[in-house]
This record gives sequence, structure tokens and C-alpha cells, in this order.
Amino acid sequence: MMSGFSRLRAGGLLAGAALFATAACGAGAAETTPDGKPEVVAAFYPLQWLSEQVGGSDAQVSGLTPPGVEPHDVELGIQQVTELKNATLTVYVKGIQPAVDEAVEPDTSFDAATAVATIPAGEHAEEGEEGEEEHGHEELPYDPHLWLDPSRLATVATKLGERLATADPAHAQGYKERATKTAAALGALDQELTKGLTTCTSRTLVTAHEAFGYLADRYKLKQVGITLDPETEPSPARLSEVAKLAKAEGVTTIFTEALVSPKVAEVLASQVGAKTAVLDPLESKPSGDYLSAMRDNLKTLQTALGCTA
Ligand SMILES: [Zn+2]
Repeated sequence: MMSGFSRLRAGGLLAGAALFATAACGAGAAETTPDGKPEVVAAFYPLQWLSEQVGGSDAQVSGLTPPGVEPHDVELGIQQVTELKNATLTVYVKGIQPAVDEAVEPDTSFDAATAVATIPAGEHAEEGEEGEEEHGHEELPYDPHLWLDPSRLATVATKLGERLATADPAHAQGYKERATKTAAALGALDQELTKGLTTCTSRTLVTAHEAFGYLADRYKLKQVGITLDPETEPSPARLSEVAKLAKAEGVTTIFTEALVSPKVAEVLASQVGAKTAVLDPLESKPSGDYLSAMRDNLKTLQTALGCTA
């Protein structure tokens, strides 16, 4: 059957074809799958997980960033740009992936950063050395890693449900119900994190890649990122600055992440007599899912920061 987004996307060009809606779905209405489901393209893992939860069986969700690839580095081939242009909706966060920011169209995209209150980008953005220009992060007035606060991601879930309901009105109720359910699961996770991080010996989070600003913001921790950009080598000045701070605050653990070389964190850890531990920024698919990976992060934080819950 004909749906709202068909008209919206296809405009005048396919207006005739849309009259024969069933045929149009199979022959040229590229924005739906052969069985007429809206196609949702999610820019990277947490948004893919969220789109799958909210889209359910009513939507066909695909991810743009292959598993194990740092999403900041993603480059889009012609096929992916076409996929993105033809999608009913592209779900992304402006500022994470310049290639995606460039390819999206306003009418068929949902920038999750517009759904929540953002926080300013890291303060030492200008202190890194060469290579920063290649990343999208640096020109942004806000920190784009918003999915690391489940309460903000719950808001994104609700807005995404509304957006999908508008795009595919025939299944509006399903999108809204699943969005509510997803937001509730994220709310429960948020409460666990709040409770689990209430009483800790240390509240300072020294991270290799400054991705945890929202987590710190939400749970009243203080993030000290060695670099903003996971690929930039920090300057010796920055390293000694962080080392001094870590010593002063009695930091016992330097956090590193799976997709980034642990070298810098290891050097720093040995300088201050700390250990390293992996904290997952969830930029790529974890072994479980978003919820289980965030619960693993909670355990890692509780151990490292000496929290009693
Ligand atoms: Zn990042």
C-alpha cells in the first residue's frame, strides 16, 4: 500500500508509479524494500541498535559502519551514498562522520544531536597535533558522543519513534509503542548507573579518547581525556599535564578502548603507577548489545573508581 514517505521522497517523478503502489515498491520506489518496509540507514552501532529496537519488524534497518571499524574514519563508496540517498530515513549524529554529514538530505535524515541537550566539545580541542583537521569532531561546538548517556538516548528513542511514525503512518502505533519500550529499558539502565556510581572513592575518569563526556555529565564524574581524536598522538605537554592531574587525584586506572591502540594509555599508566582497563565507547558493535555493553562499562567503572553500591 502507498505510504506517506513514498509521496514525500518520490515527489513528482514517481507520482504516477505511486498510484500503482504495489508495483512501485518493487520497481523503482527505492526508498522501500520489496515488501514495502521503510529503509532505515543507521550511521553507526548505537544508532543501529536503537533503530532496530524502534523499527522492529516494520522497518528494514541497515548499518553504514561495518563492525570493527572506527566510525569516525568511515568513508562512503558510491553504493553506500546511493543507499543513503534512497533511504526513507538516515539516523546519524552530526559531527561524528564527515562523510555521512555531507551525504545526508535534510528531509530524509534524523540528527540525534538535535533531539537532546548537548554539552560543549572537549576543552583541549586545539592542543592536539597534526591530523585533527581530518576529523569531524574539532569544528563542532558540541560533543557528539551523546549515546553514552542512556537518559539522552531514551529521548532520542522517543523522537525516532515519532519520526518513523510520520514516515510510515500505517505502522505509527508500532513505532510509538516500541519507542516507549526502548526508552523505558534505557531509563532502567540509567537508574542502575546512577545507583552504581553514587558512592565512589574517585570520580575522575582518565580516558585515552575523550568520548565519555555525556557519561561524566550524567553521573557526576570528571572526564580527563588524553586526546579528543582517537588517532592523534598527544603532545608531550598534554601527557605530562594529564599525568600530573592523575597523580594529584589518586587515579588508579587509565581507560582505553578496543578500537584504539592502548599505547598512549599504557605509557601514561606506567608514569603514574596505574593500571589500564577497557571502557567501551560503543562506537562499534560490542559482543552483546548496547544495554549489556553499558552494564559491562558500569562494572569496569565501579572497580576502577572504587564504587560501593
Ligand atoms: Zn569518538
